[in-house]
Amino acid sequence: MPEKQVDSAKRTLTVMIPCYNEQESLPILFERMDALVAQGSQHDLDYTLLFVDDGSKDDTRKLIKEYAKQHPYVEYIFLSRNFGKEKAMFAGIENVHTDGLVIIDADLQDPPELIPQMAELWRQGYEDVYARRRSREGESWLKKATSCWYYDLLQRVSGVTIQKDTGDFRLLDRKCVDALKRLDESERNSKALFSWIGFKKIEFLYDRDRRVAGKTKWNYFKLFHLAMDGITSFTTLPLKIATWSGMVVSVIAVIYAMVILIKTLAFGVDVPGYASTMVVVLILGGIQLLSLGVIGEYLGRIFMQTKHRPNYLVEESKLNDN
Ligand code: UDP
Ligand code: MG
Repeated sequence: MPEKQVDSAKRTLTVMIPCYNEQESLPILFERMDALVAQGSQHDLDYTLLFVDDGSKDDTRKLIKEYAKQHPYVEYIFLSRNFGKEKAMFAGIENVHTDGLVIIDADLQDPPELIPQMAELWRQGYEDVYARRRSREGESWLKKATSCWYYDLLQRVSGVTIQKDTGDFRLLDRKCVDALKRLDESERNSKALFSWIGFKKIEFLYDRDRRVAGKTKWNYFKLFHLAMDGITSFTTLPLKIATWSGMVVSVIAVIYAMVILIKTLAFGVDVPGYASTMVVVLILGGIQLLSLGVIGEYLGRIFMQTKHRPNYLVEESKLNDN
């Protein structure tokens, strides 16, 4: 249990904002961030804003640079191209030098005004204050349902408790940040990694808003890849299922072969057998392809990891304390 004593000393806190083509959201974000930073001393918080631009093609970088010129507490890292939100977040995590870190989306779906309340829990001794969505405005039922099923499955196969209805919006203590820095795996699923590192966690309920402007950068293809990363980086169960189903099907095939052999010997050649033959061929073919696919998914990820490529490349950055 966390200590009762609330530590009221000044703490430094980085708010990290991964951005990809967010020129429409940024002006509103800047305004709300300014208000937050201005209130910092009231809560004994010393804010740093860290923008990680994930290879935006619009005016995002220009806006961030101008903003950084006017405000000394603004830092930025511009990646050399679009690496995806996971890598962008990792780039930020590797460069945090404050007591704590908050990850927040640029589209203001996660209200920055909640950060002081999260910091209160942090002061009470919690090390990972994760924001759990009470409602998810503007998301289709299909997205909600698939994400719910997926996280149930991931929890079951990985053996790690995965926090429901949470995203990347959370406040992490320095300890968690240092732990995450050590996990430099190439195929990342941060949500699963946040669970995996452990530490004292507490949920914080909030209402997730709609995007203020612009469009979501996710599509089902990207989400599927992320989902596969979650599963393949935590368990080899699919490989085992492939092996077991292969065995079961082989045993059935041998039994069926014997039945056919005996039938043929006893009753002669039975010409009409097209349906059963096709069924067997199709089932076997299907299982083989699926198993190969599963093996391929793992092999691909092993391949990516063994290349030891850096997770991201930085084109330009402005960091205050490093
Ligand atoms: N993002 C990113 N790189 C990408 C896609 C998205 O850094 O390749 C950022 C994006 O700018 C936003 C956050 O990740 O700040 C969440 O993205 P989005 O709002 O598109 O996702 P959703 O909220 O729909 O899940
Ligand atoms: Mg969003």
